Amino acid sequence: INDLVKDLKKLGFDKVNNDYILSREYIELILQEYNYEFPRSIKDNLHTEEITSRNVYNEVKKIKPDHLKPRPPVVTIMGHIDHGKTTIIDYLRKSSIVQKESGGITQHIGAFQIETPKTKKLITFLDTPGHAAFLKMRERGANITDIIILVVSLEDSIMPQTLEAIKHIKASGNELIVAITKIDKITNPREREKLLEKIDNGLISHDIATEKIGGDIQVIPISAKTGENMDLLEESIISLSEIMDIKSENAPKSQTTGWVLESQVKKMVGNVATILIKNGTLSKGKVLLCGNTYCKVKNIFNEFGKQVSKATPSQAVLVLGWKEVPDAGEEIIEVKDEATAKRYISKRQNILEFEKNLLNVDKINEQNYAVNKLKKQKLLNSEKKDEDIIDISEKPTGPKDINFIIKADVSGSSEAVRDAISDIGNDEVKCNIISSSVGLPNDSDLKMAEVTNSKILCFNVGNLPNEILNNSKKIDIREYTVIYKLIEDVTEIITDELEPIY
Ligand code: GDP
Repeated sequence: INDLVKDLKKLGFDKVNNDYILSREYIELILQEYNYEFPRSIKDNLHTEEITSRNVYNEVKKIKPDHLKPRPPVVTIMGHIDHGKTTIIDYLRKSSIVQKESGGITQHIGAFQIETPKTKKLITFLDTPGHAAFLKMRERGANITDIIILVVSLEDSIMPQTLEAIKHIKASGNELIVAITKIDKITNPREREKLLEKIDNGLISHDIATEKIGGDIQVIPISAKTGENMDLLEESIISLSEIMDIKSENAPKSQTTGWVLESQVKKMVGNVATILIKNGTLSKGKVLLCGNTYCKVKNIFNEFGKQVSKATPSQAVLVLGWKEVPDAGEEIIEVKDEATAKRYISKRQNILEFEKNLLNVDKINEQNYAVNKLKKQKLLNSEKKDEDIIDISEKPTGPKDINFIIKADVSGSSEAVRDAISDIGNDEVKCNIISSSVGLPNDSDLKMAEVTNSKILCFNVGNLPNEILNNSKKIDIREYTVIYKLIEDVTEIITDELEPIY
């Protein structure tokens, strides 16, 4: 970087420092000089390195097909509010093995298992489909579930959230079973048929190939209240999972992978996470890597609070022994030992930090690029129809100043902030510091900000009084406790000012 700064100065760039913002055009020219292509290649490489636990997993071990054994399907329930999701979960939970074994004391750990009445097969249900972990995994396109049950109330038919769910199901690639609920509410057989038909047609019109039109999506009318057809629903989950051929390794030494469903700090026991196991057998002493933390498994508890020595795929268990609380929705992966876990964590942090910087550079460049493109377009237009164009926004000469007032806890930090941001900018816009001082923003700061059209940046000044924060002058006041966040924000403010000229 220092060499680059030197070279840039040689090339005639003014006031260059490490935060200097360059336009994409300049960057491309400079990189050509260096015989180098712009960052994409670096970024692509980064993605193939060990950023995520998944990459660690690929590196550490590959699954051997002949070690695969069927595992219970993981199922979640989606549908419009009040169509009966909770009621189905409650019904299933009552018939679950938890209930039978524990005499009713269930622990909410994000998932539970039931045994089907006829075939005696296990099914895992996620019990709070809307919860944070599930949404986060969904956002990332990660598939924690195998099958989604789409619930539609017989009375209300397809509603907005039903359509939302359909959209999600299609995007996720999950298998689907439709459960039409509350059939006990309509006793007249002819009316029931009519309503069922209406829903079926609705589904078909949204490209869901139900059995009615020769597709393979099952539609099962149920009542979670009376229990009618609930066994049919459970068995159809099993038959679908058999067709799907859901398998994973479950030998004692198989590598454990899974998801964090929930996590918390518990008094007396420390950091606790609920893990839904996807592959392998979890046992005490194994080391699990998860995001920026890891766990040497100290204890495992099953869904009814009983200590167990191991847990197998599709089971959800409480795991103790985490260095820090892992985030819900994160993937977990078993590694060889604690040293390996620590190594990956520090590597991951470095890469993520580096990547974040690259993304920032990329973002700035994208914007510069867009601005330049518009400028070029304008130029072309003006060449084409010279007389038609009246340029009302003549650009002033020299970079445009964006004004800031700095307030900090001690003078050392106000200086640090000044140093950190004073050189941010390029030949179009730049950062201009009106004043920097110690303490909370006061009336004269607000006045000054108003007159000079400044934003006030507060660093470590503590809680701002409401009358200052929501001041009548509508001055933009921002608070920070970390310097890089402040720099990032200022860079963004400056970048946003790179307005195209029309
Ligand atoms: P959710 O918002 O999808 O979780 O819906 P709920 O499970 O909370 O159900 C909403 C209302 O419908 C509740 O008052 C339930 O008692 C009722 N309900 C749910 N399923 C059935 C059913 O199969 N039959 C009848 N009669 N009522 C049901």
